[in-house]
Amino acid sequence: MVKSDNIDNIIDHKLFTQEDIHNMCVRLGKQLTEDYAGKKPIVVGALKGAIYFLTDLTREMDVAHQLDFLDVSSYGDGFESSGKVEIITDLSADVKDRDVLIVEDIVDTGLTLQYMKDLIKKRGAKSVKCCALLNKDARRENDVVVDYYGSDVGNEFVVGYGLDFLNMYRNLPYIGVLKPEIIQKYVNK
Ligand code: 5GP
Repeated sequence: MVKSDNIDNIIDHKLFTQEDIHNMCVRLGKQLTEDYAGKKPIVVGALKGAIYFLTDLTREMDVAHQLDFLDVSSYGDGFESSGKVEIITDLSADVKDRDVLIVEDIVDTGLTLQYMKDLIKKRGAKSVKCCALLNKDARRENDVVVDYYGSDVGNEFVVGYGLDFLNMYRNLPYIGVLKPEIIQKYVNK
């Protein structure tokens, strides 16, 4: 657990406590256990933001599954989507005829998720669904379906529990909103 004052000092306010996150994982894990009963899905973690959620979520799923990872980037090093998606690290598994569950940290514009779903469908998967921890519905720019999610979130930039700012602060055990001055400090650089 992170105790450093330095990390807590960058947070304006907490949005989700560790207990909130745990409860979301339990609820989603139960639902996925029912929906994937009798199947052997490939669970694809979207790097790097989803790794904390992925490890907690899958331990709440009583379903035999295989793990894989996909790193696609639309954000560069900032906090606004660039709108252009590219593969950084590809899947290692063959998804043909498989049920695939993408695990995402947060769906914002939806461009990244749409790209991942299209890619996996094009490779012949039997089904492709997504379980995201957070859903920024108001920011959506397409009609991609977030099949399962933990909670809606407003138009705020959140960090912690895998979610980063400039690839930092992922290890915060809760999810919070960055102080505006922290963002300004980097934006004005
Ligand atoms: P989208 O393609 O849906 O616009 O962006 C999805 C990705 O953007 C997420 O996987 C995440 O990496 C990043 N992202 C979107 N909103 C936030 C946010 O509020 N905080 C952080 N840390 N990352 C975000």
